[in-house]
Amino acid sequence: MIKCGFCKKVINGQPAYLNQKVYHSGCLVRMKNTRLDKKYKKSLFEGALKHLIIKHQEIGKEEDQFLGQTTLKKYDIYENAFSLAKRNGLKKTYKQFSDYFGVSEQSIKRTLGLKYASKETWKHIKKGRISAMRVAEIIYSKGRKHEKEIVEWVIQTGATKYETSNYRTGEEKSMQMLSGEYSGLISQIKKIGGVITKSKSSMPEKLRDKLKPHLETLKVNLDEVLKDWELKWK
Ligand SMILES: [Zn+2]
Repeated sequence: MIKCGFCKKVINGQPAYLNQKVYHSGCLVRMKNTRLDKKYKKSLFEGALKHLIIKHQEIGKEEDQFLGQTTLKKYDIYENAFSLAKRNGLKKTYKQFSDYFGVSEQSIKRTLGLKYASKETWKHIKKGRISAMRVAEIIYSKGRKHEKEIVEWVIQTGATKYETSNYRTGEEKSMQMLSGEYSGLISQIKKIGGVITKSKSSMPEKLRDKLKPHLETLKVNLDEVLKDWELKWK
């Protein structure tokens, strides 16, 4: 039984050649077209990319004067380059684009982070309340989740880039508070464990009877919690 090298379905009535692929006649045409198509798309991509690279170089020259505005232009170029590749069925990595444009991967990623800016943030950018570059930095370093909070804070306070990098989000602050509470809890647990172990042998019988129901309740609670956690975070 011989299978077609293109569609992998059985070809009837074909003699078996060793090491030679066979195709349905229709599949042969389709395969050639696919190859041509790929070549064509690749050349389309490369032609358009050339223009983008030239545009990108021109921005580089004006960078010093119009810092911030150049970020938007670069954003358009990178966006274009990526969607161009996608439209033509080509898989391109950040590394490849970083080579094409002669900038770091990180810089491309940071700039493209603007894609995640919210509508409100875009309004702020367009009205000149905050630069696109700063927004890109915020999203890149602090994550999309906190974009709105930090962008508003920067606009209100006029914080510098350095101050922004030290900004702690509400979530970070409350995590820190929580972790403070829990470290208290941990030391209490340790203390209780220590006391119980220590008094294991030396505890008077009457006190032991008093303690026992409490320990039993504690044990039930602990088992419940641990079992629950195990199910949740297996
Ligand atoms: Zn076929």
